[in-house]
Amino acid sequence: MKSSEVRLDRLSKNYTRMVAVDEVSLAIEPGHMVALLGPSGCGKTTCLRMIAGLIRPTSGDVFVNDKRMTDVPVHRRNVGMLFQNYALFPHLTVEENIAFGLEMRGIAKADAARKVSEALNLVQLSSFGKRYPSQLSGGQQQRVALGRALVIEPAMLLLDEPLGALDKGLRESMQVELRALQRRLGLTTIMVTHDQDEALTMADKIVVMRDGKLEQVGSATEIYQRPASKFVAQFIGASNLFEGPVEQRNGSGAVIRVSPELSLQVDRIPPSANDVMVSIRPEAIVVERAGQNPAAQRANSVMARVDQAIYRGFVSHYYLKTPSGGQIIVFEQNQSQHAGLRYAVGEEVIARWESPSNHVIARH
Ligand code: ATP
Repeated sequence: MKSSEVRLDRLSKNYTRMVAVDEVSLAIEPGHMVALLGPSGCGKTTCLRMIAGLIRPTSGDVFVNDKRMTDVPVHRRNVGMLFQNYALFPHLTVEENIAFGLEMRGIAKADAARKVSEALNLVQLSSFGKRYPSQLSGGQQQRVALGRALVIEPAMLLLDEPLGALDKGLRESMQVELRALQRRLGLTTIMVTHDQDEALTMADKIVVMRDGKLEQVGSATEIYQRPASKFVAQFIGASNLFEGPVEQRNGSGAVIRVSPELSLQVDRIPPSANDVMVSIRPEAIVVERAGQNPAAQRANSVMARVDQAIYRGFVSHYYLKTPSGGQIIVFEQNQSQHAGLRYAVGEEVIARWESPSNHVIARH
């Protein structure tokens, strides 16, 4: 299969009373898998449907391998599509369902049979060709739909919440399977999801959208470790967000005053920022018993009380309250499968963290 480069150039879609997609520009490398991620209504599906040719943009263009596709009708774009409601034909067998797109394209019977058998192989359903959709599990039906999308040897694959209808376990294994297949085929793929875990698991690049605009584009690690805004920090994973004025600068870093009991030393801060937000991931915080001689008043360290403690097997989640009422979320990896919660609700603790784990978001 060919790997295509896809480029969106100031792509917009306006409806009467609203802008669904607002000047989105994006370059997708050949063979990459990109996830469009964002809350409901942010414009993900509209964007994907414009790439497919199902919705005509109000302005802007879609390019595939530098060819302008904006006026090319959907059946000429050679895109494979897979949606949450994959709608197989119930009266056709698995083979016939997969062959359907080939017949529409006028492919000769012998050629079609070979392509169907290859597609069945790809989606690991070789022995299921003669069955009807009603005789398959949800995951198998979704694989048939994937086979149907792949059999036409598409220039790109477009997925809209493709695993949304599956239960959690099956969904997770299909995520890994679909990603492995996409990699093996080197097929440029764009996927819409509102599930951050799905995006982190599957995508080379994550595009976070908000109100029709791109909020941040980056790899999973970039998005997680260096969120560009408060919105991204809160949308991807859990985050402790502390806000405050710069109290003192030291070299390229600074001390941020968050509350009377909490100051943060950060290593790097934009030169012109006077007031910043610091995102600290829950797993970057270390909790210790307060003991006799608490180390409060040091930077990046605060006394707190355990407000909630939740054991979750591999990790424990602690919700701490600081004296001024601030909340700090901590994820602590449990040392062995026999270890339970280390801290009880009501216990006095010290929460502290290293400054490299702080990520500064300049406030607008
Ligand atoms: P979800 O995750 O809920 O599917 P989404 O991010 O995919 O959401 P879109 O379906 O792209 O969002 O919709 C973006 C915005 O455009 C929404 O506010 C939606 O109500 C609006 N919208 C979509 N289609 C139309 C339409 N045909 N007419 C008017 N408004 C529309």
